[in-house]
Amino acid sequence: FLASRTALVTGSTSGIGLAIACGLAAAGAKIAINGLGSPEQIDAALQAVRDAGAADVRHFGADLRDPEQIEAMMAAIDAWSPLDVLVNNAGIQHAVPLAEMPTQKWNDILAINLSSAFHSMRLAMPGMAARGYGRVVNIASVHGLVASVNKAPYVASKFGIVGLSKVAALEYAAAGTRDSGGITVNCICPGWVETALIEPQIEARRHALGNPGATRDDGVRALLSEKQPSLRMSLPEDIASMVLWLCRREAHNVTGASFPIDGGWTAQ
Ligand code: NAD
Repeated sequence: FLASRTALVTGSTSGIGLAIACGLAAAGAKIAINGLGSPEQIDAALQAVRDAGAADVRHFGADLRDPEQIEAMMAAIDAWSPLDVLVNNAGIQHAVPLAEMPTQKWNDILAINLSSAFHSMRLAMPGMAARGYGRVVNIASVHGLVASVNKAPYVASKFGIVGLSKVAALEYAAAGTRDSGGITVNCICPGWVETALIEPQIEARRHALGNPGATRDDGVRALLSEKQPSLRMSLPEDIASMVLWLCRREAHNVTGASFPIDGGWTAQ
């Protein structure tokens, strides 16, 4: 159902972003991937998206800390194929107490997790409105809905993107029609998802058990039992599945919403 559509997924050289890019590719879209990595990692990501069935796929290498690079990327994508679907997924984490948080980490986390979405949205959304169909899906987090200790910039960035998404949803609510699909802006708010991003936190919990024989699985159990009642991690594909549903035409009236996929975390 996405044949003839073009999608950008930021931070799609690994993890959740790569799964989303593959899911959109399998539905027939042309895919712009973005993200850091060695040439081998980027080639592997391109191949995975191609294998998933992408009509076409290219890597756009902007470092999302730099607004000028974002502007150049968005112009290059527009010249390649105007964007219908924008998934702001790139994100980084650094977990230490507020008073020990390096200023550079604060700046980088806010730039990548929040400001980059402002820039890509301000550049992509007018074109979507002119064409009558557009989907912005921002990968926030449960930390866009509730807080945890040691994550000041991450939680600030994720609450920020939830707010940014609501404003954009309102500004574009009346653009397009039911038939064209309209313009929607939503957030997905995952709890723990099995990716590289959370490995340092698994390792920290394993270490905190104080048992030299503790395994990674013990660390995972400790992490999940703190907050995620299902005691199961999500897989990146689980998140991709909801992105795909939000892109469907019948989701034209689903906008300004934030959807937890968190095993009950925020129900508590
Ligand atoms: P990941 O580390 O596997 O992927 C992050 C992606 O962002 C990579 O492609 C990386 O290259 C890219 N990236 C990082 N810095 C960049 C920069 N300066 N410029 C361009 N790209 C950059 O992590 P993930 O777990 O897949 O995270 C994806 C999103 O999901 C993030 O926004 C994260 O906050 C969110 N999230 C993850 C979890 C989880 O448990 N893994 C939970 C909730 C939300």
